[in-house]
Amino acid sequence: MSQAVPTYKAVITAKQMIAPDTMLVTLKLEAPESFTFKAGQFAEIGRPDQPGSTRAYSICSAPSALPEVEFCIRLFPGGMISQYVAAKKIGDTIDVQAPFGAFTLENLDTPFQFVATGTGIAPLRSLLITLFEKKPEGQADLLFGVRDEKHMLFEQELAALAKKHKGFSYHYVLSQASETWKGLRGYVTEHIDAIQPDAQFYLCGNPQMIKDVKAKLVAHAIASSAIHVEQW
Ligand SMILES: Cc1cc2nc3c(=O)[nH]c(=O)nc-3n(C[C@H](O)[C@H](O)[C@H](O)COP(=O)(O)OP(=O)(O)OC[C@H]3O[C@@H](n4cnc5c(N)ncnc54)[C@H](O)[C@@H]3O)c2cc1C
Repeated sequence: MSQAVPTYKAVITAKQMIAPDTMLVTLKLEAPESFTFKAGQFAEIGRPDQPGSTRAYSICSAPSALPEVEFCIRLFPGGMISQYVAAKKIGDTIDVQAPFGAFTLENLDTPFQFVATGTGIAPLRSLLITLFEKKPEGQADLLFGVRDEKHMLFEQELAALAKKHKGFSYHYVLSQASETWKGLRGYVTEHIDAIQPDAQFYLCGNPQMIKDVKAKLVAHAIASSAIHVEQW
């Protein structure tokens, strides 16, 4: 862990499977008064018994939810840190080092195009909540690629946000949808069509999606300063 950024103890207060392979973990920070982060930033979580074992996890809750922070973690079979966190019980403590990263909101007066795949929704959830807290009349669209209906993370929450804020729209894109799915199919890259020249683009998810979407934006003459990327 980098020494310049502080490490905090946090107690697990809730755990919930929100997809077959994804857990939403809620933590309450001890000494929260000195903990700060900006929406979109990430933390490093590691095993104290294994120095150098840390992994990055985006904080998927908004700063307004402090002293609680949430993480949306895909559980990999044999994954050192995802399984370490998943095995923890409510009331257990873990070490959280934060904040890191610059995947944050800049100018709130522009329209926003968010693009996520899978748990890439994590920092975008924090950005979306914060954007509409600060600017209820903001303009944002989310294109969210997942495998199938079971992996539609935060579906009810996104529906509620869109109901509350006229300027927010969202579209799931399913790569392995059931026959009854009436929404978008395939990959998010195929559905980035109405590219707004004055928008800020925030992309988070797997490297191939980011590469493809970036190429499409660049081909539409979007400036690199308007394209914000976090990938894993
Ligand atoms: C800035 C940043 C933010 C991140 N935020 C999140 C987040 O919010 N939620 C989240 O779930 N993850 C996030 N990650 C990924 C996370 O840091 C870990 O890489 C991931 O949880 C795997 O760690 P692990 O210790 O469980 O698995 P490891 O022990 O590192 O790996 C075990 C096995 O899991 C498989 N595996 C690991 N990573 C991947 C992958 N990306 N794709 C396919 N297979 C893989 C491989 O087979 C690997 O051999 C983020 C990464 C970065 C860089």
